[in-house]
Amino acid sequence: MMISVEEAIKLVGENTPRMSTIKVGLSDALGCVVSEDILSPVNFPPFAQSAMDGYAVNGLDIHEFELVGEIKAGDDGSMISLKRGQAVRIFTGAMVPDSADAVIKQEDIVRDTDTIRINIDRKIKELENIRPEGEQIQKGEIVISKGTKVNNGVISYCAMLGIEGLIVYRKPSICIVTTGSELVAPGNELKPGQIYDSNSLMLSSSLQEIGFESEIFSTSDNLDKTKSVLSNAIANYDLVLITGGISVGDYDFVQEALNENGVSKVFYTVKQKPGKPLYMGVKGNTVVFGLPGNPASVHSCYHVYVLTAIRYMLGLSGKENRETRLLKGRISKTVGRTQFMKAVQTEDSVEVLKRQSSAMLGDLVEANCLLVFPEEKEILENERTEIIHLPQPYLF
Ligand code: AMP
Ligand code: MG
Repeated sequence: MMISVEEAIKLVGENTPRMSTIKVGLSDALGCVVSEDILSPVNFPPFAQSAMDGYAVNGLDIHEFELVGEIKAGDDGSMISLKRGQAVRIFTGAMVPDSADAVIKQEDIVRDTDTIRINIDRKIKELENIRPEGEQIQKGEIVISKGTKVNNGVISYCAMLGIEGLIVYRKPSICIVTTGSELVAPGNELKPGQIYDSNSLMLSSSLQEIGFESEIFSTSDNLDKTKSVLSNAIANYDLVLITGGISVGDYDFVQEALNENGVSKVFYTVKQKPGKPLYMGVKGNTVVFGLPGNPASVHSCYHVYVLTAIRYMLGLSGKENRETRLLKGRISKTVGRTQFMKAVQTEDSVEVLKRQSSAMLGDLVEANCLLVFPEEKEILENERTEIIHLPQPYLF
């Protein structure tokens, strides 16, 4: 039964299992999604720190201090106890003794051998140039919330707090299976009737863009070959992306091969253009998408459904990738199917590109979004419309 885009997205969410979690070291965590809130194991800074090279002093209303020692970064500053009228030489990052009221930066003082002086009208502020213990974060406070994608900021902040590993969702293992007896890899000479395979590289590079590796397999349009290639794919990967062979032609064997491999269908055919014969199925914890072969269908189905599934696998929710822009000009279609159109957006407006045929890809070089032309609409004209970013920032 043909379902709407909204229903299909909902079914993707309901039928995609979450990945299990694993602890990874910080250096392996880039691009992973954290599966639980991370709490700070320490106060940071862990002790009151000097923010300057200068002198820690006791006495806010005094202008000349007796110099009693030195505290370098790494020294235990609690060993020094200042009495009123005393100062200690101190450096940036060094531990300020409890008995100090402020740190005066060295540019502001005049130094004799055993004393320092400041200008008579120089006021010393309490805690001046001192970073208090726990100023940035207190022990037990949330450092990173569950569902955050690990970027270099997350990694460096965790390192600062002494967190050496993170619990994250395992990244799904992904394979791409192209079908089609007409396909040859770029670099080979085309024989009559053949075309180059662009779908596998489109998918693998799109996945690379968001930090996922994938492996590529291919099969000709032959039922037994398709069955055996898919059997291996389903047994060994969390996410299987098949392109082509899912339509109703005499040589489209993907659905039959999936059935015979024990995959249960979640849905087949969606009221959309391009990409009507889209298939989703599951077997155990493996999610299978049968993407229609036309390159533009693969493209929009990847952005709308495959990425949604990946988000669910990583414990994230569905459709946060959409925004609205003001459409420039007028576009029309027939009612009854959602159309995804390659388009160019600026900060607040969007314009669709010329070549929207599902067999054409040229406009993807320029496109930076897909415009979503809703199912029930026939005309859109100078009005706010939904767009999906390319590439999609929420997974970066
Ligand atoms: P299919 O869904 O198998 O009927 O394929 C639909 C159209 O997409 C046909 O014109 C195919 O030749 C083309 N096609 C299928 N797979 C690929 C691919 N990997 N790269 C480029 N075009 C493809
Ligand atoms: Mg085919």
